[in-house]
Amino acid sequence: MNPIPLFKVFGIQINLDFSWFFIFFLVTFTLAEGFFPHFYPGYSFIVYWIVGSISAVLLFVSVLLHELSHSVTALHFGIPVKSINLFIFGGVAMIEEEAPNPKVEFLVAAAGPLCSFTLGILFFTMAYFYPVDDLLNGIINYLMYVNFALGLFNLVPAFPLDGGRILRAIIWTKKDLLTATRISSLSGTIFAYFLMFVGVISILQGNFINGMWYGLIGLFLRQASKTSYEQTKFSVILSGYKVENFMQTVKPLLPDETVLDFINFYYPFYRSSIYPVIGRDGQIYVINIEDIKNIPEERWSVVHVIDIAKPLIAYVSPYDSLYKALKLMNKYRLEEIPVVYGNTILGILRKSSIELLLERYLEEEKR
Ligand SMILES: [Zn+2]
Repeated sequence: MNPIPLFKVFGIQINLDFSWFFIFFLVTFTLAEGFFPHFYPGYSFIVYWIVGSISAVLLFVSVLLHELSHSVTALHFGIPVKSINLFIFGGVAMIEEEAPNPKVEFLVAAAGPLCSFTLGILFFTMAYFYPVDDLLNGIINYLMYVNFALGLFNLVPAFPLDGGRILRAIIWTKKDLLTATRISSLSGTIFAYFLMFVGVISILQGNFINGMWYGLIGLFLRQASKTSYEQTKFSVILSGYKVENFMQTVKPLLPDETVLDFINFYYPFYRSSIYPVIGRDGQIYVINIEDIKNIPEERWSVVHVIDIAKPLIAYVSPYDSLYKALKLMNKYRLEEIPVVYGNTILGILRKSSIELLLERYLEEEKR
């Protein structure tokens, strides 16, 4: 299921994943049935649930501010941020690219915990100046506690947690990015297994809910550290190659050629799902094999390719890296992308060529 779009801040789309409702309910339940009645007795059931849900909303506002701090810092250094997604394990900023150097990596990673600690100190000060033993004091104390906890947990040096990214930035100053990522991912995996171990111990001690929770976070973190390492590895490999060495040269279709010409004389040799056409205005267009499927076969000899051609939405330059090309192909869900230099179509780049290159790397790595 697609997440629910909420609103935009600094051009960043804030989304709510459906799994978020589960954690929101769990937090509200724990606060309304546990924390508030225990420390602030004497109120009615409904008051505890209202205060509990307000506190849960404010907890996720704190999480959002933490992720926004990462995002705004990334944007400041020119790294695009697509969205921030709130989900069962908190929040995640979808930062689109690797930091260009260790310093930027360090600052982007440190911004989140710094924000959480600042909020923690803010609520600590509020609690100091509002020492009344009521529910408002309870909310303030709860927010102070969760913000300090958020800052501390994220500082654990377990990649891809913030602390793991800080560790990676430090190693990156001495070694290359890939080595730094491998080491910090290993610490991420070790911490993930540690959490799972704590989970099992908790369950054996009869604390089932806490145990499950540790186990789930451990599983999630292990998967996240593995995926992040692989993404970094692929981006480092693909950034080292240029499109021009992997593209296939093609002769573009001319506007007066028919669909039948394409099927007879082009398609058998190129077998590509898209194909470039030079328009009568000299601009580059593309036809899509899916559009041809919608045309009855007996009309193929009368329909001109330019009639079904569409303007170019995405293309790469021969000097672009394969990494950039792959990101564009993923963004527009393309199997092939036209390669354009100035106003000239040079060829097409296939996703399968990139995948083949990565496969070769993986095989070599195994050996
Ligand atoms: Zn963070």
